[in-house]
Amino acid sequence: MRQSAIEGVAGVFGVSEAAATALLIGSRWSLSAEEVMQNDALFEKAANLLLSVSTHSTQPPISVVHLVHTASIEAECPICADKEFLETLECGHAVCAACWKSYLSLKILDEGAALVSCPMAPCNVAVSPAFVANLVNNATAAKYSALQLNSFVNDSPSLVFCPAPDCQNAISCPAAAKLPPPSSILPAHLNSIIPTVSCSCGHSFCFSCSLPAHQPAPCGLIKLWLTKCADDSETANWICANTKDCPKCSSAIEKNGGCNHMTCRKCRHEFCWICSADWRGHNCSTYEPNTKATTDQERSRASLERYLHYFNRYANHDQSMKLDAALSEKIALKIVEIQEKCEMSWIEAQFMTEAKEVLLASRRVLKWTYCFAFYLQKNNACILFETNQEDLEKAVESLSGLLERDFSDVAQIASLRAQVLDKAVYVSHRRDTLLNTTLGDLKEGKFDWVIAK
Ligand SMILES: [Zn+2]
Ligand SMILES: [Zn+2]
Ligand SMILES: [Zn+2]
Ligand SMILES: [Zn+2]
Ligand SMILES: [Zn+2]
Ligand SMILES: [Zn+2]
Repeated sequence: MRQSAIEGVAGVFGVSEAAATALLIGSRWSLSAEEVMQNDALFEKAANLLLSVSTHSTQPPISVVHLVHTASIEAECPICADKEFLETLECGHAVCAACWKSYLSLKILDEGAALVSCPMAPCNVAVSPAFVANLVNNATAAKYSALQLNSFVNDSPSLVFCPAPDCQNAISCPAAAKLPPPSSILPAHLNSIIPTVSCSCGHSFCFSCSLPAHQPAPCGLIKLWLTKCADDSETANWICANTKDCPKCSSAIEKNGGCNHMTCRKCRHEFCWICSADWRGHNCSTYEPNTKATTDQERSRASLERYLHYFNRYANHDQSMKLDAALSEKIALKIVEIQEKCEMSWIEAQFMTEAKEVLLASRRVLKWTYCFAFYLQKNNACILFETNQEDLEKAVESLSGLLERDFSDVAQIASLRAQVLDKAVYVSHRRDTLLNTTLGDLKEGKFDWVIAK
């Protein structure tokens, strides 16, 4: 993409690739050869730019000349005054290899320049990556190319680098331009879409703020929420404890999977891990406000309870995601077992892996719905949101429970597989419904927000 932009512009203007790169960096990569060719006004603008390209408006313009073959000549170096073989740049200025090396290293390694110009000031002819590669070591040449790529990605509104550690991919999202960083949270920011992209390395993240994928909560809310949670990290430690007592017989129960539907080993009591209520017929995703609070103390207690309600569920799904992810190894073993015992093909046995992916992606959405709901004021859109949240929550927990079932009974495997597949389809459907409805309502500005100033 970057290379074709350079070649295209170099072709249109009949200039070297270094010159075209200079032009593109100067125009913040906003030119494409096709656009220039099709539009006379743009051609004129680009031609003018060519005469006075600058990397940043504060720097002197970088001029551009047609490609002249570089040559080595023996003469006195204008920098160190030694008699040496000199390397000539397109502009005709020549310095010795040692001076080139120290000049280029200074510019590229120390100053991090995406575009290095001729060392003979005030000449501003750009030095091409190919010219650089002939004079410096591989690491420095690679750094120069990387700096140029960086400037390309950072100045392209539809490109970002994947934030995963060790991943060098740049991801394009033509549908979404990077949003300006919200200095304060304005309703307009909250009503924007949340562009989410997936890198081929497997990482999925928000195109706008580069945090891990956080739909349906807008970027602005995420920042507020994460700051608030960081201030309350002790609460988080308390909530993320992995053992609790059975509400009926008080025997300790350890949570070793993501599922929040607990069954006590001792008394078979079924309860909700999050709120400890009886599992049957209970709904705990919606917060029921304490309306009787009248004194300041009661009100501040009610506001803490409200926060804990949402934080508890947010933290639980976060924790469950980690436990579900740890399930992967167990699932891999189960797949081998199922294949051997049931003569199932490898493809057929993949249903566990597919269902786990659905589970993880849906839990992530569910987790962020609690951040979202914390900042919502009750209105019709909010009530619809909570209904969708409750439906998704139930679907997710039942899929989670299915995946923790015992898959060793050969007679049961076919029916269990059908159940898992059905449930996974249902969960995906619930998740899509929640996301589509919520993102639509966001765009139309149907939500009212509670944001403490
Ligand atoms: Zn020299
Ligand atoms: Zn020069
Ligand atoms: Zn990546
Ligand atoms: Zn974001
Ligand atoms: Zn019990
Ligand atoms: Zn509950």
